[in-house]
Amino acid sequence: MSIKTNLSKIKKKLPSHVTLVAVSKTKPIEDIMRAYLLGQRVFGENKIQEMVEKYQKMPKDIQWQMIGNLQRNKVKYMASFVDLIHGVDSLKLLKEINKQAEKHKRIINCLIQIKIAQEDTKYGMPYEDAKNLISSVEVKKLKNVLIVGLMGMASFTQDKILIKKEFKTLKSNFDKLQKTASNLKILSMGMSGDYTLAIENGSTMIRLGSSIFGARNYTN
Ligand SMILES: *Cc1c(COP(=O)(O)O)cnc(C)c1O
Repeated sequence: MSIKTNLSKIKKKLPSHVTLVAVSKTKPIEDIMRAYLLGQRVFGENKIQEMVEKYQKMPKDIQWQMIGNLQRNKVKYMASFVDLIHGVDSLKLLKEINKQAEKHKRIINCLIQIKIAQEDTKYGMPYEDAKNLISSVEVKKLKNVLIVGLMGMASFTQDKILIKKEFKTLKSNFDKLQKTASNLKILSMGMSGDYTLAIENGSTMIRLGSSIFGARNYTN
């Protein structure tokens, strides 16, 4: 199916409080341009190099979001333009983002990635660690980063009951944290396979790749 058909189908079902991040990793400029011309402005990439190349070639009103696991030494390449960083899971990384943001006189919005899946392959922090991090003095000192929410990835499984349970846990942790951290507004959860379930369970931001652009040639 075409990008146009896919996008309009998804948008029709999308509640107004949910932001759609079009995950364009591995996809060529012409595909991204197609989505752009249909009104899509928020795109997600998981490799800094690839995102920088696309940023340089594409219209400048696109909001580029980093959804992948980050190498600290590459943060500098995207610090001048990145709109939101989803996968933050350590103080070290936050400090590096802060340092690079400061050079560009920017405040970079970040989401803390929480580990909700059972699998070992998924990155992220345990909730308790994230809670301590967000309220820590060290983080309060960082003037050029703003923690605006949480992100999580459910287990890669067909087991809808398990996925639902993981989303519910993340949502209830998000609600608890929000009481003490008023900047938390975004709950990024849900991908092509599970976004309906994610929205039903409180997601405010979904990250969709294959359901918009079709299957990727290689997975990462
Ligand atoms: C690739 C990726 C997505 C999109 O995956 P689809 O299943 O193609 O929708 C979402 N989130 C993260 C973190 C990803 O790496």
